[in-house]
Amino acid sequence: MRSILAHAHGTGRFMYHAHMDTVTHYVDTRGLDDSRPAFSRAVVTGIAPGGGLFVPERLPEMTLEEILSLSELTYPERAAAVFTRFGVDVTADRVTALMSEAYGGQWDDERIAPVVEVVPGMHVLELWHGPTSAFKDMALQCMPLFFSEAVEAMQSAGELTDDFLILVATSGDTGKAALEGFADRAHTGIVVFYPEGGVSDIQRLQMVTQRGQNVGVFGVRGNFDDCQSAVKAAFNDADFSTELRDRHGLRLSSANSINWGRLLPQIAYYVSAYADMVASGGVKPGSPMDVCVPTGNFGNILGACYARHMGVPIGRLLCASNENNVLTDFIATGTYDISDRAFVTTPSPSMDILISSNLERLLYHLAGPDAVRGWMAELTANRRFTVDRETFRQVRELFSADWASNDESLATIRRVYDERGYLMDPHTAVAWEVAERLRGQDPVLVVATAHWAKFGADVYRALTNAPYGEPLSGGAGAMSGLELLAEVRRIAPNVGPVPAPLAEIACLDPRFSEVVDAGAAGVEDAVREWLGR
Ligand SMILES: *Cc1c(COP(=O)(O)O)cnc(C)c1O
Repeated sequence: MRSILAHAHGTGRFMYHAHMDTVTHYVDTRGLDDSRPAFSRAVVTGIAPGGGLFVPERLPEMTLEEILSLSELTYPERAAAVFTRFGVDVTADRVTALMSEAYGGQWDDERIAPVVEVVPGMHVLELWHGPTSAFKDMALQCMPLFFSEAVEAMQSAGELTDDFLILVATSGDTGKAALEGFADRAHTGIVVFYPEGGVSDIQRLQMVTQRGQNVGVFGVRGNFDDCQSAVKAAFNDADFSTELRDRHGLRLSSANSINWGRLLPQIAYYVSAYADMVASGGVKPGSPMDVCVPTGNFGNILGACYARHMGVPIGRLLCASNENNVLTDFIATGTYDISDRAFVTTPSPSMDILISSNLERLLYHLAGPDAVRGWMAELTANRRFTVDRETFRQVRELFSADWASNDESLATIRRVYDERGYLMDPHTAVAWEVAERLRGQDPVLVVATAHWAKFGADVYRALTNAPYGEPLSGGAGAMSGLELLAEVRRIAPNVGPVPAPLAEIACLDPRFSEVVDAGAAGVEDAVREWLGR
């Protein structure tokens, strides 16, 4: 790592370079790994050996003046300021260059993460202006650039000769965003597996039409669990790893949301949003705003928590869940319990999660590695754990939580559209509903995580008062996902166009059509066959 560190002291033209005099190292939430990687190695490694997550050993601070001055900068410059503050082991010049590429012309709004006031005191942070129309782009347009840069640096330092193959099991959003992020990135290849029949036809089309020389997409016979277990089994097959390294010079890696490289970009947009809120008069300089986040794996809301710790005046963190409301219960009781909990299907599938992996990072900051190791062992053994009183008190001080049912979330889409002319996707609607219930005196920032068109069928249900989970009646029942989008625009003519990459997928030729069996062998044979193409 020495070569990367040596570069870290270079002078950049960036305004905050004076503070970048040390590189931040990362520690393991379970205290089992003492390698203390810097940012680049933490990104490439992904998860700590032993199963823990990497967290920064120290957290930076920004003064109110510094935060507010961001409103004068472009989004790439704002993101670079936050990365530099976090002591990444990449020169300030390179950070700035990579951010311009990450947050460039592939976004349909040059503000990247704009804040829109929908109701006085209720503002929406739109995180869906990227190429796949969902908030995963905020991290996955950025992280692969730093991943590729890190591999390059390690190779030129002679520490590594291999390239990386990213394997992803997806239930929809993540797969497309990861494909788009890693497409044609040097030193990487990516193969995505999705459950055949388990994703919407728009989601499938988005993936099978993916451009890029280093990408592959396969359907898996089975549901998402089968798909995920098959990919996990391939990861854990030592012979397969050896074969990939010996024959192809490839190491396996994953791009999942516990990678620190995905979390850091998610801190940047909260700092940016506060600067925008003040600039637009939505909040007085230094006064708090509450933030309400539709939560699945706890990554997005954790970004807000880190931003708060850095000095961004965030009052309460409002954690919004759908019917898979294990986090609502945890924040109410201090017990995380999935021992007797069934997985529920909802119109907000990207929040259908039972184990919110990033919660482990919060618990580490509140209670330290020994406690975390114990709780994670209990979760594995008994499917539940209870935190101690002091940790619970701190959780309650930071977070409030509530959840919205399937019907409530669709009713919210309809109501906010009728009253305000603002059309939300079902994930955003969960957060809106919870924000309305929990809001107090302070302005609230509701985080919007997908464009409505990404979940057009359920948005159509919402607008036409059709219940969730029942087949659509009449002509709509026979329509494709894209035809339903046209229907939504007919009913709600003032909502603006469908984002171009979604509108255009029908014109692209599918590049991938293969479906493989579940199980490690299905996934491994698919990878072998793809490498031989
Ligand atoms: C991933 C995702 C979420 C959940 O985010 P977490 O960081 O996992 O809490 C919410 N909404 C959408 C649209 C997503 O894609």
